Amino acid sequence: MNDCLFCAMADGKIKADIVYRDDRVIAFKDIKPRAPVHLLIIPRKHLAGVLDIEPDDGPIIGEIFQVAARLARDQGIAESGFRIVVNSGPDAGQSVFHLHYHLIGGRQMSWPPG
Ligand code: AMP
Ligand code: ZN
Repeated sequence: MNDCLFCAMADGKIKADIVYRDDRVIAFKDIKPRAPVHLLIIPRKHLAGVLDIEPDDGPIIGEIFQVAARLARDQGIAESGFRIVVNSGPDAGQSVFHLHYHLIGGRQMSWPPG
């Protein structure tokens, strides 16, 4: 999609610190990390957010969680623990409108989130 930051990163038009890529999914370091490990996992396909996920997208959403588990192991946070977060809309503070899953870990986290 034109004018989408994460599409441009997926297409290699804007630099990203990529830690995983395949034909459908990429993962890269968050530019403003909130924890020692803070990655963003996205579908290459442009979906603005969770509200835009359609039945046909089921496999890619499943793959994103598999990639998250693999990256959690790779990053050494599988045993200590981690969060997978998706923000949707203003109250949650969504700021980029291309579906992305935050993978956050490497420190103790509080609950509920602020
Ligand atoms: P959200 O607020 O849930 O929409 O998350 C958007 C995330 O994208 C934030 O954590 C930002 O720090 C991150 N972000 C914005 N621009 C970039 C970029 N150029 N490279 C990597 N992460 C980015
Ligand atoms: Zn996009």
